[in-house]
Amino acid sequence: MSDASVAQTGDFIQDGVIAQVLDRGAAASPTEIREILAKALELKGLSLSDVAALSKLRDPELCHALFEAARAVKERIYGTRMVLFAPLYISNLCNNECLYCAFRASNRELERRALSRDDITREVEELVDQGHKRVLMVAGERYPQEGFRYVLDAIDAIYAVKRPKGEIRRVNVNVAPLSVDEFRELKAARIGTFQLFQETYHRGVYAEVHRGGPKRNYDFRVTAMDRAMAAGIDDVGIGPLLGLADWRFEILALLQHIHHLEERFGVGPHTISIPRIEPACGSDMATRPPNEVSDDDFRKIVAILRLAVPYTGLILSTRESAAMRHELIGLGISQVSAGSRTNPGGYTEREDEQAAQFHLGDHRSLEEVVVDLMSMGHIPSFCTGCYRMGRTGKDFMDLARPGDIRRHCDPNGLSTFLEYLIDFASPETRQMGERLIQDKIERMAPIPRAVSQKLVERVRSGQRDAYV
Ligand code: SAM
Ligand code: SF4
Repeated sequence: MSDASVAQTGDFIQDGVIAQVLDRGAAASPTEIREILAKALELKGLSLSDVAALSKLRDPELCHALFEAARAVKERIYGTRMVLFAPLYISNLCNNECLYCAFRASNRELERRALSRDDITREVEELVDQGHKRVLMVAGERYPQEGFRYVLDAIDAIYAVKRPKGEIRRVNVNVAPLSVDEFRELKAARIGTFQLFQETYHRGVYAEVHRGGPKRNYDFRVTAMDRAMAAGIDDVGIGPLLGLADWRFEILALLQHIHHLEERFGVGPHTISIPRIEPACGSDMATRPPNEVSDDDFRKIVAILRLAVPYTGLILSTRESAAMRHELIGLGISQVSAGSRTNPGGYTEREDEQAAQFHLGDHRSLEEVVVDLMSMGHIPSFCTGCYRMGRTGKDFMDLARPGDIRRHCDPNGLSTFLEYLIDFASPETRQMGERLIQDKIERMAPIPRAVSQKLVERVRSGQRDAYV
């Protein structure tokens, strides 16, 4: 695709259409709601008006039916696997003025820092030694002297770390929107997913909360995924920052964004993130978001998205408390971060709220999160197989839709989890995990059981990074 054909404006977000469907959605009858839920159970996704109707639900019985449907879809597509990753903040320098973020340029309360290559190496060594295989690299929008090269060098530094018991196998990236040429360089650096949140799709609110810097340009941000995809990055991650505009508007606009990417590139986003605004040093808005999302509404958002885009990964970060994460996992979350720090240097130096982007709701270590997931019957997965086998973008979705992806994900989840148990876990955790792996294998159908058994045996006999 030529650069000229890449969208230049966010006209695909149509406020008028969203207002209309929300109005109509409020009038949906219980019978219509049950029909929408029945359709969702066929795993075909939902239309804009279906989502609008579900977003207006209040009746406790129908809400219960919504949650049950989401649980069923989650179970059918993702089984009990849960992918784990750690964010890696490399810099908190920033030129923007996002009112909700501690990194914003005028915040004098923050200690500024951009990690050097050596600092990054140390951070990654620590993460690898904890057992991590995936990181999400994050930075503010101001790079040291070398400019965008700083980002590319940081990715290189992460992949260059080799420890006796492993390495980072997938680097996802969350940095400011780029030009098509820069995205090409990012792709050449072998990134996994390029992730960028629109924050709010509402132009008025967007202008109010982004007071300065290049991020004020709504159109440049909302078209970033067009440029990423045009540059050949076909796994992209999007999301709203919940708490800015009305959440119903945000999820409908998110759906319009997804439809736009599907129409243009034949595939939507690989993942959706649903960060809720958390308190952040020096930000009044982060303490009192203009449209705070309640826990009840947050549950609904997860369930509705699970039904609307069943094959798109849903990511939850450590912004949420352990109790909330517990609940939301059952409703549709497929990836969680664990053991996170949001200040540059936070893994090897100290967790420092004066340098962090926002305050964490969940302070548990990776192993504590692993144990919690196991106690829910989940398999913590460190798999990075798809992206390294080229199963990305449309190829991934073509495998996911008929349910074929589980042929890969289930065995790979088990083998990478066993790797973690053998190499990093305490004896008690390992014992608990081995029992769980055994139990999962016994419950599998004959073919995946045979594949899983073989893969697990390879790991047991000393092979690492075994996947199908
Ligand atoms: N600077 C780049 C940008 O803004 O796109 C990328 C990194 S930024 C640190 C990553 C994301 O953190 C932002 O897109 C925003 O959604 C989220 N964020 C900022 N402040 C937050 C807060 N107080 N609570 C939760 N998430 C926040
Ligand atoms: Fe900078 Fe991103 Fe924070 Fe905005 S959200 S102040 S761009 S780091």
